[in-house]
Amino acid sequence: MLRLSLGEHAESFRLEFRDWLEKNPAPKVEHDSSLESFQEIGRSWQRQLAQGGWMAVHWPKEVGGRGLSLIEEAIVQEELVRAHSPQVLGLFGLTMVGPVLIQHGTPEQQQRYLPKILDASEVWCQGFSEPGAGSDLAAMKTKAEPCEGGFRVTGQKVWTSFAHVADWCFALCRTSAEGKKHEGLTYLLIDMKEEGITTRPLKQITGDDEFNEVFFDEVFVPKENVVGQVGEGWKIAISTLMFERVILTFARQLQSEVALRSLLSNESIRKNPKWKHELAEHIATACSVRALAYSHLLEYAQGKTPGPEGSLDKLLWSESFQRIASFALRTGGVQLAAGEDGACGNEVHRYLYSRGRTIAAGSSEIQRSIIAERVLGLPRLSYRAK
Ligand SMILES: Cc1cc2nc3c(=O)[nH]c(=O)nc-3n(C[C@H](O)[C@H](O)[C@H](O)COP(=O)(O)OP(=O)(O)OC[C@H]3O[C@@H](n4cnc5c(N)ncnc54)[C@H](O)[C@@H]3O)c2cc1C
Repeated sequence: MLRLSLGEHAESFRLEFRDWLEKNPAPKVEHDSSLESFQEIGRSWQRQLAQGGWMAVHWPKEVGGRGLSLIEEAIVQEELVRAHSPQVLGLFGLTMVGPVLIQHGTPEQQQRYLPKILDASEVWCQGFSEPGAGSDLAAMKTKAEPCEGGFRVTGQKVWTSFAHVADWCFALCRTSAEGKKHEGLTYLLIDMKEEGITTRPLKQITGDDEFNEVFFDEVFVPKENVVGQVGEGWKIAISTLMFERVILTFARQLQSEVALRSLLSNESIRKNPKWKHELAEHIATACSVRALAYSHLLEYAQGKTPGPEGSLDKLLWSESFQRIASFALRTGGVQLAAGEDGACGNEVHRYLYSRGRTIAAGSSEIQRSIIAERVLGLPRLSYRAK
């Protein structure tokens, strides 16, 4: 749909990957397949891609990447969509904790974790949100108390995607109640097989149960599993969210392209001038959102570290994706009834899934505040009820 030339070198890289994909076709996943088969296929496909050298190509060579830029990484994502590839399983490792370990981890942590993130032999979940700490993340209460050799973690996380399949969790925990609330936080790598962890699935509106509540009861975490320094967790968490809003969002943006492609081939839309006009508007918006994301990727390729501008990518994509999903429902004549097991048809599933996208990785309101204060430099206003 959107075709921007990214330079000769990048385009020859694209052709090289296309060639590999022709020889190694992506496995097929039926949209109504079970979560187990989604996991199994996602894991083995990621392993195959890693063996071919196509996972996290922007990571340094020493830790298993190819030392390329985020432009080449974006090309890999685009070509996977073009080839109707299923989602790889280890997305949180590849797009969040992996980049964080490269930036803030010790050489030992990098050697220990990164290769297993690449080939999905270890899968990660993100333990940030808590029942009383979502937008106000620094309000979190899960404690990590010092003990011999490390910490004991006690508390609760919520909305933890894929915690029930994850081997590891990167979590933000409170190591001190003194001072400002964001100062007493520490970033820990928690082995999900440790004693004292209970994971309970939560059913989503889509019928899927990829979400979980996770309870920690005096879970031991060795001191080697602290990323950065004790009390430095806020800085590292912010860096995780910046990567999430840039790298993971780029991958997610391609979901708009998949939806728009299927709408473009819909005859009833083509024949209806009003719908055709609206579809053209959705396509134009999706193209401008992608062009903005490319401009950020080009800056990162020149050495800039992802910053608050990722909130623009995240906000514009998630809101336009919701409008596309809603348009697809209005124009598709789709059956709204869910199956007995709660499973939804393709367009309905996409519509319901899209609702959560303006909440996950920070709600739209929070993204707007970040854009206002940290991208545009507008003054921070606080309102008090009289
Ligand atoms: C699909 C999905 C996947 C997720 N996966 C994970 C995961 O894997 N790991 C994880 O840790 N978390 C995950 N989350 C949680 C997500 O990060 C939080 O839901 C999100 O940060 C919002 O927090 P909250 O749900 O507590 O809502 P709240 O923070 O309670 O917000 C409620 C409402 O108030 C608004 N609001 C709150 N504060 C402000 C403010 N200062 N200014 C203006 N408006 C405000 C919000 O925009 C929202 O509309 C996921 C969420 C979703 C939907």
